[in-house]
Order: sequence, then structure tokens, then C-alpha cells
Amino acid sequence: MIADAQRVVVFTGAGISTESGIPDFRSPGGVWSRYKPVMYQEFLSDHEARKRYWIYKREFYDNMAASKPNAAHRAVAELETLGKLWFLITQNIDGLHQDAGNSTDKIIELHGTNRWIECVSCGARSWAEDLMPRIRNEAVPQCECGGWLKPATISFGQAMPVRETNAAQQAASACDAFLVVGSSLQVHPAASMPLIAKQSGAGLAIVNLEPTPLDRIADTVWSESAGAALTAIVRELKSRMAGAN
Ligand code: NAD
Repeated sequence: MIADAQRVVVFTGAGISTESGIPDFRSPGGVWSRYKPVMYQEFLSDHEARKRYWIYKREFYDNMAASKPNAAHRAVAELETLGKLWFLITQNIDGLHQDAGNSTDKIIELHGTNRWIECVSCGARSWAEDLMPRIRNEAVPQCECGGWLKPATISFGQAMPVRETNAAQQAASACDAFLVVGSSLQVHPAASMPLIAKQSGAGLAIVNLEPTPLDRIADTVWSESAGAALTAIVRELKSRMAGAN
């Protein structure tokens, strides 16, 4: 499917980064078995919720600092090198696709990024790395304006970013192959992207360890680890491309 396609979209979720040591949300032992998600409205209105939120985020930043792109991220980067990646839509906030070498103009970060921190009052942005000492020492870091600081990610209950959502919908509706990697496909509107692609006539492939609600409409489903599956896909693609030359 990828070999024949002109416009391949890869769509990744937390499952592509578990092999880098960053837990996903919904797998057994995932984040949700230990932390209750904090809604955006709670973050704004309740100091205990803000503290809980930052306890989880500190753990995420520790995981991020210790993590490197894995074989699956590298395979997605190789798809771009091979001229076989039109857009990469990611729900991930860990920045590992950029570290693996995908260009920023190919990546649509649907749920924002942990690499930036934003003030919820004045909107000022800083590199998370620059704020690490304060993140380590303050229960809830505050902006110079007095507002609460929060990673530039989209929390539950927070509005989706308009530009990224539109770009992802356009890519999904105009691609000819759509490859899902490591997503439970339960978080909407992100999870509607593969549906849009399929309904617009694209082939749909899903690589995920557990079943997803869209397996029944997919053209192919691989219940395998992302690293092994994507390495095999890129190997096969390269041998077909070499054979065609
Ligand atoms: P999810 O936790 O709902 O689902 C992850 C899926 O990946 C699961 O179905 C699991 O079976 C599968 N999986 C786990 N390890 C795998 C592997 N090695 N190979 C193949 N499949 C594997 O994640 P989601 O669908 O991305 O949605 C949850 C939200 O979590 C997203 O909004 C995302 O922003 C956020 N999140 C991101 C990160 C990250 O950036 N790394 C980590 C945790 C949560």
C-alpha cells in the first residue's frame, strides 16, 4: 500500500514511544492506572488539581530526559528520507519524532508539546528545558505575571488547536495511504482522522498491540510492537523500491 501510494500519512500515538521508555495512557500499567487525568478547567480553578498535574508532569519530564527515539521513530524518519511521507500527524507531546530526524514542516502536533511551557494567563512561552530548575523546585511554577505555568499541551477539556486540527483533517482527507502506529484510537477528534482517511478513499493500516475500534474498517491490522512492524515495513518498502529501479 505504501509502495503504491503518492501521499502517505503516518498517525502516531503514545504506543510508538513506549519502547523509548515513556508509558502510554491506556495500556495495563499505563499512566491512567496511577494518575487521574486533570481536566483543563480543574487546572484553572483548583490548586490541589494543579499540584497533582505537575507531579505527573515532572515524572513525564524525567522519562523524556531519559528517552531516545526507538526503531519505530527511526523507521518513520526513514519513510521521509525515502520520499514516502507526506505528513506525520502525532498525538504525542514528547518531541521524539523531531529527535529521530523528521522535519518540523512534516509534523502536525495535534495535542501540543511538552517542549514548551506556557502561561495560562498571558500566553508567554519558554523552553521547558530553561525552566527545569523551577519545575523541580516549585509545586506549581508561576509566570512573572502571576499566572500559572503549564506545558504547551492540550489537556482534556481544552480546545483543540485550530491550525493543527485543520491541517490534520486536510491531510487525512487527501492522502491515499494512512498508517496508524501505537494509538488506542479512543481520543477524539484525533481518532477520527483515520476514519476521515478511509471515508475519503485511502487505504488504512493499523499497527497496535491491542485491538482498536477501527480495526473492522482497516485494510490491514498488525498486532505487533511498533518497532518490529515499522522496521519490517521500511525494509520491505526499500526492497520494492530497489526492485522498481
Ligand atoms: P493510548 O495510551 O490511548 O494508547 C496507546 C496504544 O498503544 C494502546 O492501545 C497500546 O496497546 C498500544 N501500544 C503500546 N505500546 C505499543 C508498542 N510498543 N507497539 C505498538 N502498540 C503499542 O494513547 P493515544 O491513543 O496516543 O492517546 C492518548 C493520549 O495520550 C494522546 O492524546 C497523547 O497526547 C497522550 N500521551 C502521549 C505520550 C507521549 O507523548 N509519548 C505518552 C502518554 C500519553
